[in-house]
Amino acid sequence: MIIIDGSEGEGGGQIVRNACALSLVTGRPFRITNVRGGREKPGLMRQHVTAIEAACRIGGGECEGVAVGSREMLFRPGKASAGDYHFAVGTAGSTNLVLQTVLMPLLLADGPSRLVLEGGTHNVFAPPFDFIDRAFLPIVNRMGPRVTAKLVRHGFYPRGGGRIEVEIEPAPLVPVECVERGAMLSCSATAFFAGLPFDVADREIRMAKKQLDWPECAFSVRELPEEQGPGNILVLEAVYEHATEIVSGFGKLGVPAEHLAKRAAARMQGYLDSTAFAGPYLADQLLLPFAIAGGGVFTTVKPSQHATTAADIIALFLDRKTAFQHEAGGTHRVTVG
Ligand code: AMP
Repeated sequence: MIIIDGSEGEGGGQIVRNACALSLVTGRPFRITNVRGGREKPGLMRQHVTAIEAACRIGGGECEGVAVGSREMLFRPGKASAGDYHFAVGTAGSTNLVLQTVLMPLLLADGPSRLVLEGGTHNVFAPPFDFIDRAFLPIVNRMGPRVTAKLVRHGFYPRGGGRIEVEIEPAPLVPVECVERGAMLSCSATAFFAGLPFDVADREIRMAKKQLDWPECAFSVRELPEEQGPGNILVLEAVYEHATEIVSGFGKLGVPAEHLAKRAAARMQGYLDSTAFAGPYLADQLLLPFAIAGGGVFTTVKPSQHATTAADIIALFLDRKTAFQHEAGGTHRVTVG
């Protein structure tokens, strides 16, 4: 039994999700104490409960202590089975984080799977659908499998009600090198809004235009059907030959549109100024597939605590070390295996 202190390192839900995925892949049971001990409100939240239950369902496993607020949990894996699965987060909890929990085990399962996930699709502190679809999954597909995701309906906090559908055709993951991102092919800044005044999105775009030296045609506002709101997200996207970076600004009551756009643009500028392949979020999310593939290399900006914590959890299950090496120009070379 692997024992994990959930307050160590980043101390959040990612420890729980990665542990579930790794447990299903390796067949090793685990117990987490101090679940999400690094968070202001520790313990499992609704979206973590759904993610663990989803892992149990696809893997025929058993779990204990899986309830909202629980600070200690145990997970005994079975074997991941391909199938048609439907998971609803219930609140606006992130569907994409549930996907992250079950994706790797299903990629190694005995046949194709189809997932329907309902809940939030564009949540703060989680990868928005666009990021999963255009930044993360293309790299996973480069490793062998074929995963396609479709956004059927946006779901914003607090209402949720979003829906994504994912088709998974498994294949053994092969190590890849993601060192060069290549030349920039396109860039875009899109402010999505639903059930809110146009002005919110318009102000975001005006501020983004001021901050980013991108062509006029890169900036647009897109209204979503009113019943998918209220909600707003600014999506900044830079497409390179070999990598795509997506930076999001999540609209929130009380946060001025200009402020959110300025912060998102500054984060995108940081990526544009570097030569790294992966931005900070992609970096922590790539560690799991890379480790399961048995190795691989990518370059990134300064590694986040999410990344170093993911590396620690991987080391517990797979006995695989991750090296973060600082390189000239401020990028970091991440070598797994
Ligand atoms: P945790 O905070 O432990 O629940 O983990 C959050 C996860 O969501 C990490 O894997 C982050 O990389 C990811 N994440 C958070 N915000 C974003 C974002 N804006 N874009 C992409 N991924 C994100």
